[in-house]
Amino acid sequence: MSDRIADIWGARTAYPRGHIWPNRVDQFLADGLSDADVDAWVQSACVLCSTGCGCDIAVKDGRMVGVRGRETDVVNHGRLGPKGLYGSWQPFNSPDRLTVPLVRQNGRLVEASWDEAMNRIVAASRERLDREGPGSHGFYTSGQLFLEEYYALGTLAKAGIGTPHLDGNTRLCTATAAASLKESFGADGQPGTYEDLDECEALFCYGHNMAETQTVLWSRVLDRMAGPDRPALVCVDPRNTAVAREADVHLRLRPGTNLALMHGLVREVIAQGWVDQDYVAAHTLGFERLADTVAPWSPERVAEVCGVDPGEIREAARIFGTTPRVTSTVLQGFYQAPQATASSCQVNNLHLLRGMLGKPGCGVMQMNGQPTAQNTRECGANGDLAGFRNYANPEHVQELADLWDVDADHIPHGEPPTHAMQIFELAEQGDISMLWISATNPAVSLPQLPRIREILAKPELFLVVQDLFLTETSEFADVVLPAAGWGEKTGTFTNADRVVHLSRQAVEPPGEARSDLAIFLDYAARMDFRTRSGRRLLDWAGPEDGFTAWVECSRGRLCDYTGLSYERLSGGTGIPWPSSPDEPDGKVRLYTDGTFPSGTQECEDYGHDLATGDPLEPDQFAGVDPGGRAMLKTCDFEFDATNSEDFPLLLSTGRTVYHFHTRTKTARAPQLQAAAPEPWIEISAADAADLRIRDGDKCSVHSKQGSVEVKARITDIQPGVVFAPFHYGARTGAGFDQDRAANTDARPTAANELIQTEIDPVSKQPVYKCAAVRVEAIS
Ligand code: SF4
Repeated sequence: MSDRIADIWGARTAYPRGHIWPNRVDQFLADGLSDADVDAWVQSACVLCSTGCGCDIAVKDGRMVGVRGRETDVVNHGRLGPKGLYGSWQPFNSPDRLTVPLVRQNGRLVEASWDEAMNRIVAASRERLDREGPGSHGFYTSGQLFLEEYYALGTLAKAGIGTPHLDGNTRLCTATAAASLKESFGADGQPGTYEDLDECEALFCYGHNMAETQTVLWSRVLDRMAGPDRPALVCVDPRNTAVAREADVHLRLRPGTNLALMHGLVREVIAQGWVDQDYVAAHTLGFERLADTVAPWSPERVAEVCGVDPGEIREAARIFGTTPRVTSTVLQGFYQAPQATASSCQVNNLHLLRGMLGKPGCGVMQMNGQPTAQNTRECGANGDLAGFRNYANPEHVQELADLWDVDADHIPHGEPPTHAMQIFELAEQGDISMLWISATNPAVSLPQLPRIREILAKPELFLVVQDLFLTETSEFADVVLPAAGWGEKTGTFTNADRVVHLSRQAVEPPGEARSDLAIFLDYAARMDFRTRSGRRLLDWAGPEDGFTAWVECSRGRLCDYTGLSYERLSGGTGIPWPSSPDEPDGKVRLYTDGTFPSGTQECEDYGHDLATGDPLEPDQFAGVDPGGRAMLKTCDFEFDATNSEDFPLLLSTGRTVYHFHTRTKTARAPQLQAAAPEPWIEISAADAADLRIRDGDKCSVHSKQGSVEVKARITDIQPGVVFAPFHYGARTGAGFDQDRAANTDARPTAANELIQTEIDPVSKQPVYKCAAVRVEAIS
């Protein structure tokens, strides 16, 4: 195999439109090992991004020693990217794994037994429930656990404790995907499929640097581009990414202006008569309002606001309006920017206007960032009600109450679920006095880190952290629980195109580490949560019981898993939901008949005013019941850049191909860490010259929130804009403690030191891509 650090996407396997993507099996084994040395290959899928590549884990002498893509898997046809090859398994063998629980004693974390650690948690929990009630508890989870674990967590939080304060770090990466799907179609759930990349004649990537964030998916696109009938490619991105460099049209807009650009594209499609009038009349609501809102957005006006060429806007609109099969993908460039949900809804609107949904090559993919984010959403671990149920619909609440055998009044409902930034705000105010954080590192990933550290450090907050390693967040914990990770536990997870994979346990976890599921079940048992009929609330013996319980919860819902089982998922490939006994192989595309889950009794959400975020009341929604039609929703463009004389540059944060999230895992894969060992800031040659900064110079970056010191990289980024990867926290290397000891005088480097607390009004996703900063040379 080639060096996949240098050769990120591997060799091309070109193919024509409408053909099956050729197989190419990628494999990486520990130094000196060959296939003959491997004791067993164990079925799994990669959990380092939402692509969800099927793979097998190589095991030797009870340790993970490598990984290989599954050529029979519908997602990746054997391929794996650099993160999957190097970062999926090596971190689990790292010597600094947490192996025993830790509890805080005299200000320090010291080793403890599981009984001691869990008893402390249960005592703190009981005391707060008695004194302050269920709202004293907050849970902040991840996009990296397994389905069964999220469902257990959601059930214990809502049916056990009865708290509404539960969210995942998926709020930071996929909340807008879910919100835009609910606003347009009535429910979460990806309409399209990766197979649309095999069929499309044009591909639009909206704020989606697929080349770095989903490398295997980008290999699929590159293979189509290398084939005989190359699809047109349109890239919407302020940066000159690898996607932009392949594009026929690169709409290199100013940060913060996505919605203005989308208004221009929609207006042009309408003005040029490219609307499928029959589809719009039969399957949508809201056309007139949409047309009125976008009417002022001529290409010239858009060009002025967005800083792009009006001819390029016309050309992009022509490609969208005249190509029979267009696939669209959307990610953080839209989701983490101002007016995120409104901008993403305009992508849905374009497809609805052209009747391009549910047909081969015509998919919308509102992508996910984290690998198992879809399950956080489905299972309600992001605060929603499980099974895409509507918190404002009493019948949906009653369904869950019957399923869990608890009183409906015990399940928090009627108010929107508490989102992540609100959970931290409630902890700041003292309303949440116990916070349980699993598999995530908010002390690096949340905006405005100085404030987050202050909240986590509050003496009156009882903080539980459950993870594979010590992290910047666990530094503040009262109890740290050692978790088993991927390859050390069994469970299922669902990728961004709804394909469900089973991942089997390949090795034993280190020391006394336990799966997140085992920890949640243990807590529920110790708390003695009971149903109305006196049974234990979560009486599962293991993950397969959890999956069976989830299947019942999903029955009849859009995310129907009733055709799936561990046995069915043990074959050669993952299977998409909805899957029922009548359709066991699942539905590859949703909405093939133009009918949407938007009816009052069916929908997951009654929707919002996209400008203000105000939720529609049930009777308001019932008055216009879409009854199976999609909704063409939009709002006016409003954006005031916050840069000023003191902070003249706009900072956008994002990912690098070599790291995932806060590098808890990828910093412990030697190849990935060597490829991107330290943080940096990208700056244009013009701005660097003005500031007397040379490539590689250390510079300081300041915002109203904080400062960092990082090296400068001079790139072809737009003048006036700088970019920083968000992965880097207090650690620079693999070992948290060693690094801290070696860097006692180190300056902060995390990009989130600089980011303001600002959220999209609908999805509540933080805005990470428009911070006003000042860069200074360090002489
Ligand atoms: S593309 Fe994503 S899921 Fe596939 S191997 Fe790479 S990191 Fe893993």
